Amino acid sequence: MTKIFEITHRDGAARIGKLSLDRELSTPAIIQIHEKDSPIIDSGSLWQRTEMPEDISKKIVISPHKSLPLHIEVDIIEQLQTSFDTGAALQQIKASSCHTGIIVHPFHQKPIEADLYALGCAKQLENHARDLVNSIINLKENTRADSLLYVPALAKPENLSVLVYMGVDLVDETLPMIKGYHDIYLTNSGEYHLDRLHEFPCACDVCSCNTPQELIKLPKKERSELLSRHNTLKLGEEMRTVREFIRSGQLREYTERQCRARPWLTAALRLIDAESTFIEKRTPIFRSSTLYANTSESLNRMEIRRFAERVMERYTPPELDTLVLLPCSAKKPYSISLSHQKFINALGKYRKYVHEVIITSPMGVVPRELELMYPAAHYDTPVTGYWDREERAWVGGCLRSYLQKNKYKNIIAHVHGAYREICEEVEKELGLGFVYTADDGVTARSALEKLGSAVSGFENINKRSGEEAKLDMMHAIADYQFGKGAGDMLTDGGFVRAPYPKFQLFAEKQLATLIPQYGTLALTIEGGQRLGIHEGYRVKIGDFTPHSSILAPGVEDADPGIRPNDEVMVEGERFFGVGRALMSGWEMKECAKGVAVELRHSKQTEINI
Ligand SMILES: [Zn+2]
Repeated sequence: MTKIFEITHRDGAARIGKLSLDRELSTPAIIQIHEKDSPIIDSGSLWQRTEMPEDISKKIVISPHKSLPLHIEVDIIEQLQTSFDTGAALQQIKASSCHTGIIVHPFHQKPIEADLYALGCAKQLENHARDLVNSIINLKENTRADSLLYVPALAKPENLSVLVYMGVDLVDETLPMIKGYHDIYLTNSGEYHLDRLHEFPCACDVCSCNTPQELIKLPKKERSELLSRHNTLKLGEEMRTVREFIRSGQLREYTERQCRARPWLTAALRLIDAESTFIEKRTPIFRSSTLYANTSESLNRMEIRRFAERVMERYTPPELDTLVLLPCSAKKPYSISLSHQKFINALGKYRKYVHEVIITSPMGVVPRELELMYPAAHYDTPVTGYWDREERAWVGGCLRSYLQKNKYKNIIAHVHGAYREICEEVEKELGLGFVYTADDGVTARSALEKLGSAVSGFENINKRSGEEAKLDMMHAIADYQFGKGAGDMLTDGGFVRAPYPKFQLFAEKQLATLIPQYGTLALTIEGGQRLGIHEGYRVKIGDFTPHSSILAPGVEDADPGIRPNDEVMVEGERFFGVGRALMSGWEMKECAKGVAVELRHSKQTEINI
C-alpha cells in the first residue's frame, strides 16, 4: 500500500482526506476520469482500448475492465477477472508502478489489493437501497481503511450526502451531464423536467441569465450544455456543503434532512442504521456539535444506542436504596436547568442519599453521574408533549432494562404526562411499587413539597457523604469510558478537588481531570498507569520515543475497540503516554498515513509497563 491518502476528518463512515497524486485532491471529490490531466484515469474498457497518457507514475489508473450487467453468473465474472491478469494493458500499468484502481462488481466482490475501488454497475443500484447499502458495506469491510471508494455515474445533488455518509470518497459528473441532455434540471431537493418549471430557484450564471421558458426555446445542443452546466455546478455546490458538514460533525443531521428527497434514500439511511457494527466502528466517542434529534431516524443514531448500551453494560449505580426518577430538561446539563434546580432544592440535604436518574427521549435513561457525557448534554429535540409509539417503546424499554438490572428499595417517580404513563407501564410490568410525587406538574409547589417529604420519609437507608457522591461520579464516568472495573481502579483511595463540573481526581498525585465540555476523563500518566492491568484502550508502538503525536505507521497494535476521540494509553518498549485517539483502533493498524494519537503526557520508562 502506498502512502497517497491521508484521512484528516472523520464523521461516521464519511471522511475528508488528502489524496496526493500528480496534483492534490481534497476528498470527498468529484473527479473527471476521462480528462487526460485527471490524477485518476480509466485505462478503459477491454472491449475498446483507450490511449493512456505517457507518464502515469503519479496517477491512479483504473485497470482495464469489461462492462458487466448487474445480474450475472459468478463464474463469468471470475473468468473475466482471470483474463484481466494476463491482459497486456494491466501488465503495462503494473510495470509503470503507478497506483491502481479496480472495478468491483456489486454482488460478486473479491477485491484484490488496490488503492481505489470503483463500484461497478452503480447506476443500476439507484432506487435499490438494500443492494447499494450491502455492496458498499461489503466492499468497505473487506478493503483497507485508507483505500478509496469511487461510485461512478450515480451522484446527483439530491443523493450526494447519503453516498458520502455511507463512506463514498469519489463521484463524477456523469449523471448531472446526462440529465442535462434529457432536459432535467437538478437541485439538492430533487429533479424537475424543464417544461414543468416556472422559475429557476438557483442563482448560478445559467439560471440568473435565463428563464425556463427562454431555455426551452433554445436549440437542443445549446440548451443541453446550459442545463448540464447548471447541474454540475449544483453537484459541486452540494459537495462543498457536505464537506463542511463533515468538518463540523453534522453530516448525520444533514443526511437525515437530505434523504427525504427520495424514499429510496430514506430507506438507505435506515438500512445503514440497521448495520450497527459498520457505523459503530466509525463513530467518534464525542463531537463538539449539538446532536439534533429531529426525525424518527434520530432514535437509531449510533451515539444514542451506544449510550444506552454502555449504561446497561458498563454502568454500576452507587449503593443507595432510593431511586428518584426525574424528567429531562431543555437546558443541558440537566442539573443547571431551572426545573432541576427546583428538584435539587426540594431534595435538600437528602439529595446525596438518593440516586437520581433522568428519563428522556431520545436518550432513554441518564444516571445523574453521566449527565455531562456526550451526547446526554449535547442533544436537542423538538418538545410537543406528545410522544409517539416508537419513542415510548424505546424509553420504556431502556427504563425496564435498567430496573431489571439495578434494584432499589424505594422508587420515587417525580414525573408527569407521558413520562408518568411510561413509568406506570414499566412499574406494572415489573411488579414494582413507585411513589408518584408530581400529580400537579413537576415544578408545582405542592409537587416539590411532596418530593421533599417522600425522600425524608425513608428510614434505615444507605447514606453517603458529599465527597463520596463526587467520587461516585468519577467512578461512573471511568467505567463508561474505559469499561467496567476502570472506575474501581481509578477511584480507589481517591478524592475529588475543584468545584463541579471541573472535577479533578487525586490519590497521591492527580489521576484525571473531568472535561466538562464532553463529560469525559483526561488521564495523567499516573492515572493511565493505574489502569495498567485494565484491558482495552491500549496502543502499542515500537522502540522509539514519540513527541507530540503517534502516526499510524508507528502503531504495532491497537485495541480494535478504540474510537475517534477516545482517551488511550500508549505503550512502547521504553515509553508510556496518554492521549486522545484521532482514529479507530482498527484503522490505526491499517492506515499508512495520518495521526493515530495526539499525546497529552508521556514519559520514558526503563521496562515495559
Ligand atoms: Zn443554476
